[in-house]
Amino acid sequence: ELFLRKGRIVAALRNSVMNGFKGFDVHYQPIVDCGLEQLIGAEALMRFSMISGEDTEVISPMEFIPLLEETGLIIPAGRYILDEAAKLCCEIQQYIPDFRININVSYVQIMHGNVERDILDVIKRYALKPDSICIEMTESGFMDMTPVFCKFRKALDENHISFVIDDFGTGYSSLNHIREMPLDIIKIDKCFIEHLGEDDFSDAFVKMVTELANTIGVHVCVEGVETDRQYAIIKKMGIYYIQGYFFDKPMCIESFEEKYI
Ligand code: C2E
Ligand code: CA
Ligand code: CA
Repeated sequence: ELFLRKGRIVAALRNSVMNGFKGFDVHYQPIVDCGLEQLIGAEALMRFSMISGEDTEVISPMEFIPLLEETGLIIPAGRYILDEAAKLCCEIQQYIPDFRININVSYVQIMHGNVERDILDVIKRYALKPDSICIEMTESGFMDMTPVFCKFRKALDENHISFVIDDFGTGYSSLNHIREMPLDIIKIDKCFIEHLGEDDFSDAFVKMVTELANTIGVHVCVEGVETDRQYAIIKKMGIYYIQGYFFDKPMCIESFEEKYI
């Protein structure tokens, strides 16, 4: 069953990529400045609906992103998301000049896709300031620090594009990465936020990472903030950016524009 389902989803993804990305969509989740309590940007999150005949099935990113990576389709699909997100960023900057957009990039795009060229292309196409784009990668994405990854990282730096380490704390050598890698933002994984105020380890972890980050001039973003209680704890910790259902869920472009412009 699983094998057949995987085959059906891969066929639908391939079909969509070849037909103008029909079925793909981008949702946007606000990122809020914790001190100012103001919208400063959004994370672009890929969505996919599988259309077969009359039926449409929404597939979770947890299911389709690994399939896009396995098949290399993440390269064209990632390029599509990048373009859509940069377009929205350009529109919103007419109203919020410093608005930024965070985009997830996977290792496959770096190894085989020349994603840095794609990023520079959209910056030019939409006349964005380079620091309007933040690239998010999970630690597993750059575990090896290969020459190709280092070249990518250097290209971002030279072009003043921010680099965010995503899902921080879930990798196997997180602290080592902070030391080795030039970073702009550390995004602490939501599993540590879920138990804030309930579990000493989570409290101590978030506090320790924030203090360490502040010492080395790196900003911290926390994601997965859902409750008043979590928000109150975070506000006291010197954290810069917040993302989570507490403010808003990821939403389609129309809702985002209606609500935030
Ligand atoms: P991520 O980059 O860690 O994205 C954050 C995920 O947390 C999103 O799940 C978002 O909907 C969810 N989230 C946000 N706030 C809350 C909250 O308060 N509580 C809880 N429980 N969850 C929250 P989503 O959209 O299902 O995306 C899952 C993953 O798929 C992303 O995790 C990212 O790794 C990957 N992904 C999504 N879009 C792209 C893309 O364009 N390219 C690549 N390479 N990966 C993507
Ligand atoms: Ca992310
Ligand atoms: Ca994350």
